[in-house]
Amino acid sequence: MELARRRDAVIVQASTSEVYGDPLVSPQREDYFGNVSTIGPRACYDEGKRCAETQFFDYHRLYGLKIKVAWIFNTYGPRMRPDDGRVISNFIVQALRNEPITIYGSGLQTRSFCYVDDLIGGFMKFLHTSPDVTGPINLGNPTELTVIDLAERIIRLTNSKSPIVHLLPAVDDPQQRRPDISRAAAQLGWRPHVDIEDGLLSAITYFDLALQHAAVSN
Ligand code: UDP
Repeated sequence: MELARRRDAVIVQASTSEVYGDPLVSPQREDYFGNVSTIGPRACYDEGKRCAETQFFDYHRLYGLKIKVAWIFNTYGPRMRPDDGRVISNFIVQALRNEPITIYGSGLQTRSFCYVDDLIGGFMKFLHTSPDVTGPINLGNPTELTVIDLAERIIRLTNSKSPIVHLLPAVDDPQQRRPDISRAAAQLGWRPHVDIEDGLLSAITYFDLALQHAAVSN
């Protein structure tokens, strides 16, 4: 009985576009094996996720375990932590405080940002697919921006006086990242809808209130 119940369970891995490392092809499709350092500062995260995936797929092959593996690209929206160090939270907080916007390196590296509601919508559709739909499947928004473009948009949308400063590049920072979402479109009937500036405005409103609240409680 216990075993039967376990066999019916579906286990989901919230994996990551980091499995592509610093990709040499763009956009990234699920059949691309990636370009990942095994020893750099990001390796623990990237290789950890990849190692977990090997176990998911081995258990699926060996024991018929029902698995679903999603490769989640950069996601943002309200309720991020202001100090999580990621680019959108950093830039919005810096812009709202009129502090320098810190770009690591040239700012010509790219990312593709997915609004959280879109991402969750894709995730829910994935969860409700038949057991043969195991993934991996890219979940993300294919609209690609340079980091400098992102900084300029956030400065404009917040009416900020922040200057842009360039700091040292992050080690092993992926230079381009953009999902090919044709598998998600075909298997889930999903694609994201929220425009980057609409999503940024909603995140900005959230951070503005969060910072005011933090200032009042201090
Ligand atoms: N980044 C930046 N300034 C910051 C934070 C991040 O220029 O204050 C850059 C970072 O070097 C990377 C991109 O923004 O190229 C996305 O960084 P994040 O940590 O948000 O996501 P990830 O690199 O994991 O995709």
